[in-house]
Amino acid sequence: MVAANWKLNGSAELCREFASNLISPDDVDICLFPTSIHLATLSAMCNGSVVATGAQNVYFEVSGAYTGEISATMVAELGAEFVLVGHSERRTIFGETDSEIARKFEIIMEAGLTPVLCIGETLEERESEMAVDIVQRQLHAVEKTWDHPAFLQTLIAYEPVWAIGTGHAATPEMAQEMHATIRKTLFSISSECGQKIRILYGGSVKEENAKALYAKEDIDGFLVGGASLDVKEFNQICNAVVS
Ligand code: PEP
Repeated sequence: MVAANWKLNGSAELCREFASNLISPDDVDICLFPTSIHLATLSAMCNGSVVATGAQNVYFEVSGAYTGEISATMVAELGAEFVLVGHSERRTIFGETDSEIARKFEIIMEAGLTPVLCIGETLEERESEMAVDIVQRQLHAVEKTWDHPAFLQTLIAYEPVWAIGTGHAATPEMAQEMHATIRKTLFSISSECGQKIRILYGGSVKEENAKALYAKEDIDGFLVGGASLDVKEFNQICNAVVS
């Protein structure tokens, strides 16, 4: 899978550009995560195509007095299929905790959507050799849903925080090392989880580094931020994962 996280960027024009110019190579799942405000437009444009859409965030309640929030059921109603949860920007800028993330993760599955759980360590945590512990803690935060029938369809996005938006992606070897650790944890849940759950890499993926990263055994695709705002570059990244 190659997924595009537009963050707080994009416009109706960008939605049109993607709808007209996005290539979708066989065997590559593509998902676009626009802002919530553009989700209806983009989902309608992608309707009937193989390109999926998703929300960057939802609230952990389905309805109620929560001004400014959107719910997983609303996202599902638009035809979107995926939701990002636990993105480092949500954790650091908006103070989302592991327990809030776990509640969101569950409510997304309950709405029939697929959560993409984003996990990853900061530079400080890597330098103090805490990276594996942090990633394990973030994975274990959703532990109570590991036996949910929909858990097998979920995706994990390993996004080292120090690589997001910095232009300094993890080397393929560093990324593979952490992906292999995540895979091992998934196998410890069940062999089906280990085999089926896709682990995406995110953090300064560009057309120049996509092929080398994707060549690594446990890298099953990408979550792309900055480079996903340019349809031509995003197409190149999609091409890089064609075997
Ligand atoms: C992201 O925010 O999910 C991301 C991977 O961003 P970038 O590709 O810009 O590093």
